Amino acid sequence: MSQILVLGGAGYIGSHMVDKLITDGYDVIVVDNLVNGHRASVPADVPFYEINIGDKTALDKIFVENQIDAVVHFAAFIEVAESMADPMKYFSNNTTNMTALLEIMRDHDVKKIVFSSSAAVYGVPERIPIKENDPKNPINPYGLSKLQMEQQMHWADVAYGIKGVAFRYFNVAGAKADGSIGEDHHPETHLIPIVLQAAAGQREMVEMFGDDYNTPDGFNVRDYVHVLDVVDAHVLALDYLAEKNQSNTFNLGSATGFSVKQIVEAAREVTGINIKAKVSPRRPGDPDTLIADALAAREILGWRPKYDNIHEIIKTAWAWKQKNPNGYEK
Ligand code: UDP
Repeated sequence: MSQILVLGGAGYIGSHMVDKLITDGYDVIVVDNLVNGHRASVPADVPFYEINIGDKTALDKIFVENQIDAVVHFAAFIEVAESMADPMKYFSNNTTNMTALLEIMRDHDVKKIVFSSSAAVYGVPERIPIKENDPKNPINPYGLSKLQMEQQMHWADVAYGIKGVAFRYFNVAGAKADGSIGEDHHPETHLIPIVLQAAAGQREMVEMFGDDYNTPDGFNVRDYVHVLDVVDAHVLALDYLAEKNQSNTFNLGSATGFSVKQIVEAAREVTGINIKAKVSPRRPGDPDTLIADALAAREILGWRPKYDNIHEIIKTAWAWKQKNPNGYEK
């Protein structure tokens, strides 16, 4: 039976993908170097290779030993602020490792890839909601590295016939509803988990980065989409590649925006805790507003996101947090 190789399968979104693939009856192999991933987020009986995807020899061996049908690639660094401070870390881990991966896929005749790109490829959008064909002018090295990865996929399609779906994620949030897997970064930089750390008494307060953005309340606005809906789109992309044999790029967002302040307020309502927050300086590299036009994923892939309510999204993240106050660390 052919297998799905999940790169970065022990990370936040990757682990939800692995869980979904297994539930749907796919044969899954996971690669993760555990720099940001957690071994405990992947069931013990799933074949697991603890390697760096930059280790071409080790990665090649996995393609020799298995019958890989498609690759789902989540293994990238994702922090805007870190990418501003250390851009080469992003170009080597994200951009360069994609080159090696596509070479290995070419050499082993693996023709399908689903890739986690980012809304950061757009930079400061010219219009909201953002459509896939809108200009791509990233304003941080993270966004540029993801754009470069997409561009390599394009030329790998033209030259080698490797078909790819790239998903430009907006702000992925939430967790599997039973609280068994969830988001656990060290250090945590993402807004919702930080707000819930404050709710759980693990940090004194939330710093809201910048109150002078060009938005209705001055706080910057993001589009939050549930991790299970994101994962559903990836499974649809595997079907799409198998049936249509075409490459494509889709935004994945809820098409609604919430400001940082609105997220803090929603989390207060969900948790019933008066989470403390203060205004702090802007974080470099942050645009005012990012909201997706996600119609293409609905129309072409038949994507039907189930979570359309920010309170429901935060509720699932809070269930994970309450069940696992220290994440995967026991
Ligand atoms: N943010 C914030 N305080 C924090 C972390 C994030 O105000 O402690 C803001 C950040 O400036 C951005 C939004 O929350 O506007 C979402 O940031 P996050 O890092 O979660 O995701 P990103 O948009 O960078 O992918």
